[in-house]
Amino acid sequence: MSATHMKNSTARQNWTPGSWRSFPIRQVPTYPDPTAVEAVEERLRRYPPLVFAGEARRLKSHLAQAARGEAFVLQGGACAESFSEFTADIVRDTFRVLLQMAVVLTFGAKVPVIKLGRMAGQYAKPRSSDTETRDGVTLPSYRGDNINGAAFTAESRIPDPLRMETGYFQSAGTMNLLRAFAGGGYANLHEVHRWNLGFVERSAMAQRYGQLAERIGETLDFMAACGLTTASTPQLDETEFYTSHEALLLGYEQAMTRIDSTSGEWYDCSAHFVWIGDRTRQPDGAHVEFLRGVRNPIGIKVGPTTGIEDLEQLLDILNPTDEAGRISLISRMGATKVRDHLPQLLRKVQATGRTVTWLCDPMHGNTSSTTNGVKTRSFDAILAEVKGFFDVFEAEGGFPGGVHFEMTGQNVTECIGGAQCLTEDDLGERYETFCDPRLNAEQSLEMAFRLAEELKT
Ligand code: PEP
Ligand code: MN
Repeated sequence: MSATHMKNSTARQNWTPGSWRSFPIRQVPTYPDPTAVEAVEERLRRYPPLVFAGEARRLKSHLAQAARGEAFVLQGGACAESFSEFTADIVRDTFRVLLQMAVVLTFGAKVPVIKLGRMAGQYAKPRSSDTETRDGVTLPSYRGDNINGAAFTAESRIPDPLRMETGYFQSAGTMNLLRAFAGGGYANLHEVHRWNLGFVERSAMAQRYGQLAERIGETLDFMAACGLTTASTPQLDETEFYTSHEALLLGYEQAMTRIDSTSGEWYDCSAHFVWIGDRTRQPDGAHVEFLRGVRNPIGIKVGPTTGIEDLEQLLDILNPTDEAGRISLISRMGATKVRDHLPQLLRKVQATGRTVTWLCDPMHGNTSSTTNGVKTRSFDAILAEVKGFFDVFEAEGGFPGGVHFEMTGQNVTECIGGAQCLTEDDLGERYETFCDPRLNAEQSLEMAFRLAEELKT
């Protein structure tokens, strides 16, 4: 054991929800008034949890199934949720496309699809630069609505702790709606046709989806005739839907961390699943220290710069007992790199004998800029990375556990390609993202059909 590693393990003996505060930290905002931050965190500590420990444990057991190839994860939602886009329609539309994608993937993968939204709390963003310059003016970067405002003015870019409280209440409102949609009849499999309504209805993908819905409808009628109705099979009536976000703003996450009365263990009750981003996964950093002590299932983004030794250390620190379902490694290599970089990491993890759930994020390694400097991603590159990911598992053995998309149920024009053949010239039409470009509803559904084909083979 190296000297630094030894020091780390000593320093790590006593985890508390606030022990991360004495570790080096990246990507934190500098608030003008620290006492105002403490006051907000104090209030947040008293507010009810957004999710329950038992739900997080249930998700963990599903993720363990995905690690064994017995389930498939569909994680998706906006890069950054925003306070201004907090409407029932926007939440419903993303939820609906995720349901449609899940139906398509269930047909392809022939295993249950675990639905995990990047929703109800995805408000804090890591940035590659602390500042942003436009027309010769330099201001602090936008860090997500939980921290500062996206508007390019000096005032809006000042971190405001009250935003954490707004973030909490909007997460609660979103969560409430998601719970109602998931359990209150909207997600009833008999409604599979109705999920196709809205603008998607007029698209080529809708036609293809309509045919699938037809087959499902007939199957349900057949099952009902055999006596399998919602009374005997409640799974047909509702769905399980889980939430996730990047655990970046640790003051907020700490305030939402509570002891579970059943197990006596700590859970971060801001979401069922939280992940560590590519920029904050240093083994001796604050984000790893915080996540070590909460019992939620957690994700670690793994990119071309992830060293094998770092990854081994992370697994030791974050999952010392090798609990299945605890760790999802979210590979975000880029279409041109996945076939070169992933095999060695996969082999190394397999050699340790540890259980992890591997997910593919084909978004973050495939961001490019147009000639006008607009951030975009191409449908083909995204698909190529997922195919590369599946191929690596095919060649090396093991199970590709699922996929992670930045997407929306809206008809935006942010990624190029897909059945609508969006080009760079179309991006101006509805470019609405607050951070990275997302697949629109039709591109998301098309992606699901293409993946289902891959999963079948
Ligand atoms: C993200 O998921 O929005 C993100 C910033 O990803 P990464 O940490 O992989 O760059
Ligand atoms: Mn992103």
